[in-house]
Amino acid sequence: MNVPASVNVQASVRVPRSSVTRFAPSPTGLLHLGHAFAALTAFDAASPGGFVLRIEDLDQGRCRAQFDAAILEDLTWLGLTWPPPVLRQSSRGGAYRAALAALEGLGVTYPCFCTRSEIAAEIARAAQAPHRADTTGTAAYPGTCRSLSASERARRAAGAEAFAVRLDSARAAHVIDRSDLQFTETGVGPHGETGAVRVDPRALGDVVIARRDLPAAYHLAVVIDDAFQGITLVTRGNDLFEATHVQRLLQALLGLPAPRYAHHRLILDPQGRKFSKRDHAPTLRALRAQGVTPGEIRRRLQLPAGR
Ligand code: GLU
Repeated sequence: MNVPASVNVQASVRVPRSSVTRFAPSPTGLLHLGHAFAALTAFDAASPGGFVLRIEDLDQGRCRAQFDAAILEDLTWLGLTWPPPVLRQSSRGGAYRAALAALEGLGVTYPCFCTRSEIAAEIARAAQAPHRADTTGTAAYPGTCRSLSASERARRAAGAEAFAVRLDSARAAHVIDRSDLQFTETGVGPHGETGAVRVDPRALGDVVIARRDLPAAYHLAVVIDDAFQGITLVTRGNDLFEATHVQRLLQALLGLPAPRYAHHRLILDPQGRKFSKRDHAPTLRALRAQGVTPGEIRRRLQLPAGR
C-alpha cells in the first residue's frame, strides 16, 4: 500500500501542545497587583479557551463568599474569561478522600499530633540544622510523630485529639523507587533552574496533606485538581518552586499526569517585599476606583497588551 507523502510530512512537523493553564486564588481577601500578574500570566500562556479558574477555598475559617464574588468580578474587569463552572475546592471532598485513602494504602502517610509550638520547640532543640525551609519560611517538620507505633497512632487517632496527616517523604521516595523523577520547568526557577529538574522528594520534608477535619491540605488538593481540570502548564510564583518537588512526587504516587511548570517572578512592593493581603497592598478595586484601566495594569506589570 502506498503511504501518502503527507503522512511523512506531518510526522516531521512539531505540533505545539495546547496549553491549559489555571489561576487558583484563595478567597481570603481582595486581589492586588501580585494576583493580577499571576492571573494575566496564566491567561496569556494558555491556548485560546485554555484558561481555567479554580477557587482554593479549603480553609473555610479564612475564606469569605464576598471575596469569592469579588475575585470573579475583578478578573472579568481585567479582561479574563474562563469556561463555567468555576471549580471550588470546598466541593471536592470525595475526590480528596479517595486520593488520601490511596496514599494511606501505599503506607506513605502518618498522623501527626504535634502542635505548632511543639514543632517549633523541637526544631529549636534539634542539634542538627533543620531541613530546608518551606516557601513560607517555615523549617521542615522534624518528624516527631513519624516513629509512633501503629497502636499508639490508632489509639490517639480514635480519641478527640486534633491531628494532621503528613506525607512520609522518605517512604514515598522508596515506594516511587525512581531517582530520575523530574518535572519540566519551562520558565526559570528561583535559582536559575530550567528544563528538566530532578525531584528532591524531601525538599519540604513531611508536609501536611490532610487534617482530621479537612480531607486535603494544599499540596494534595492542588495535584488532584490540576489533573481533574486537565492543566498542562502550571504558571505560578517562584515562591512555590519548592512545592513543585512535593507535588510531582504526589502525582507519581497517585499515577496522575504531570503538567509542565513555569514559575515566574514575584511582584514586589516599593520596599522590595512580596505584595500581600496582610500589608494592605493596593487592591485592584482601589486602583480601578482611582481610574486605572486594565491596560494600565498590564503596563505597570510590564506585560504585553491583552489579546
Ligand atoms: N491558592 C494558591 C495561592 O493563592 C495557589 C497555589 C498554586 O498556584 O499552586 O497561592
